Amino acid sequence: MWLWLGMIRCGFCCWLFVTVLGAEVVVPSGLPTGTEKALRCFLAAYPGCIESVQSEESRVTLTMASGAVVVFEDYLPKKYQQRIDDPDLADTLHDAYPAEMSFKTWPEGLDPGRYRSDAFLGAIYGSTKSEVKKNLVTVDFLGHKLSFNQCNGAAAALKKVAADLAEVLKKKPGLKPHLENLGGTYNWRKVAGTSRLSAHSYGISIDLNTDLGAYWQWEKKQALAEMKKRLAYPQEIVKVFEKHGFIWGGKWYYYDLMHFEYRPELLPPHAP
Ligand SMILES: [Zn+2]
Repeated sequence: MWLWLGMIRCGFCCWLFVTVLGAEVVVPSGLPTGTEKALRCFLAAYPGCIESVQSEESRVTLTMASGAVVVFEDYLPKKYQQRIDDPDLADTLHDAYPAEMSFKTWPEGLDPGRYRSDAFLGAIYGSTKSEVKKNLVTVDFLGHKLSFNQCNGAAAALKKVAADLAEVLKKKPGLKPHLENLGGTYNWRKVAGTSRLSAHSYGISIDLNTDLGAYWQWEKKQALAEMKKRLAYPQEIVKVFEKHGFIWGGKWYYYDLMHFEYRPELLPPHAP
């Protein structure tokens, strides 16, 4: 990315134009270790989206390429519901996304990725319905034409998922029903029963077959910690999405098994 640093007045009273190729964002010194790790994770997972970092006594903020200012760290301790309702960006990494499904029961409240900073996602993908719509492109997903956000490589990642799933289906055609009767991608809406925007609003999420993926609010017997349903979901499909930066709603305490969401900061190689 070519970035104008601007015009610098030199000692000879002339204007010097300075241009830097791929300018690095300066990480302020003296940050707590955890904060610095989280910051470096976001800088790597969202290249070019963050222009600068400001560290003050009581908070750290990001100035985004869009011009928006996002609270990265407010240094306030938060309980579960506060992380859901009003997280700073660092809070959204509070729960590590587990690589494997090795729990006997799902730990209560382990919800990696259910915490979202709307200020951050809005600055990248669009903060209003019309802004998001301008960023949508069509992705051919195994014959389905889907709208997905092209910012930060989200649509390109979904294309890679589709290509890999086509290969998986050659070996395991029995998985095909999961990839039909799709629940959809872009949809400007709130999370059911809340005033928070769904990740579908940003065009970075996809719901696969709604009949084959349980959502906790639709289940009579919710059994939130139960592993059986989660483990019955084809892990071959989950692995493909994860490889390309998507988290799975089956790794949430408040599970949503049909749901995949582009959140590269929570997955290797970026996750702290
Ligand atoms: Zn969904």
